[in-house]
Amino acid sequence: MDADYNLIVRRLSEASQKAETGFYIHYPFCRQKCSYCHFSSSVYERELHLKWLAAIKEEIRRAAALFSDYLIIDTVYFGGGTPSLLTPGEVKCLLDSVQKNFEVRLQEATIEVNPAAEAGRIGGWLRAGINRLSVGAQSFDPEVLRVLGRNYDPDNTVRLVEEAKKAGASNIGLDLMVGVPGESLRTIEVNLKALAELQPEHVSVYLLEELEKVPFQRVWEKSPVSEEAAAETYERYRLSLEAAGWLQYEIANFSRPGYRCRHNLKYWKYQPFLGLGPSASSHLANFRWTNPSGLEDWLSALGSGKPGFDEFIELRPGEEVREFLASGLRLREGISLEELTSRFPGVDLSGYETRLTRLKDYGLLQVSDGLVRIPPERFLISNYIISELLL
Ligand code: SF4
Repeated sequence: MDADYNLIVRRLSEASQKAETGFYIHYPFCRQKCSYCHFSSSVYERELHLKWLAAIKEEIRRAAALFSDYLIIDTVYFGGGTPSLLTPGEVKCLLDSVQKNFEVRLQEATIEVNPAAEAGRIGGWLRAGINRLSVGAQSFDPEVLRVLGRNYDPDNTVRLVEEAKKAGASNIGLDLMVGVPGESLRTIEVNLKALAELQPEHVSVYLLEELEKVPFQRVWEKSPVSEEAAAETYERYRLSLEAAGWLQYEIANFSRPGYRCRHNLKYWKYQPFLGLGPSASSHLANFRWTNPSGLEDWLSALGSGKPGFDEFIELRPGEEVREFLASGLRLREGISLEELTSRFPGVDLSGYETRLTRLKDYGLLQVSDGLVRIPPERFLISNYIISELLL
């Protein structure tokens, strides 16, 4: 398996300059497991938390031994799971470890925060180097939180955001979940009112999906939300957020000008990122890989000294073009044809031309000023449009 890393290192060493890279740390514990969750996470236990902490530091050192000569880390993102279970001291220790082991020019350091988190930690996280909070509000409607089985009420989120602002946080994102059984027109009103009052810099609107094999599937089967109803709800949010000044820059993401999430933009712009921790994915040069998703599998792969992957793919140039298109078309700005040809010279793009013209004729793609994009009112069928383009 070592050969896999050697291939990546060889390819990275061919680049004329270091790659600006996002750094993702996956924290795999939560206070409780939500019934709709498909992320790699389990219920917090102090002993496991400490094991993870020791192992992630080791993984940072190992990743640095391989890649630090070729990367500049400019964003760090603590995701999960519930990384707000990390104390400020632990966050500082991990950020220090990244700084010590890599060349870092940090523009953004995000931590995902559960609304039930200890608000008293926020000042400590900010002093540790965090400059962006992503708060998993999900909803300000108590009924929706009850259906989702979340362990807090809307007041928790309000208090947390207010405390965060008092502590000096100036870049706060709120995540909402829509298309949930039990939501109503009142839910939309309540959520939009809360956003208007709290004025976060960033808002994400996710549709509840991927429910196969999670316990929530039973709730869903009893009272499913039709695709039409979910689409209508999404469209209401989209138009209302835009009208209120949160500009849509990706299918599910809206921000005040200057507050797009730099880290997540790396995924959509097909730029490099290095993911550590169980289930974390990485993309460096033309390689993509995913760590083992279970905590034990990840720990034992690290302990054995040999990398283990759930997935490891070397992408040929034509496959890279497909990934570039599939992720870039999620962005409102779309993809630049000039960037496409300069990043992937020599790839025959002629096969795309007919399909692109046909999709344009149907009004499913817009082409202007050298950019190709999906019209925002078609975002909900973006999967269909992208698959038609990539046939
Ligand atoms: S808090 Fe988030 S990551 Fe944890 S179980 Fe719930 S949805 Fe999953």
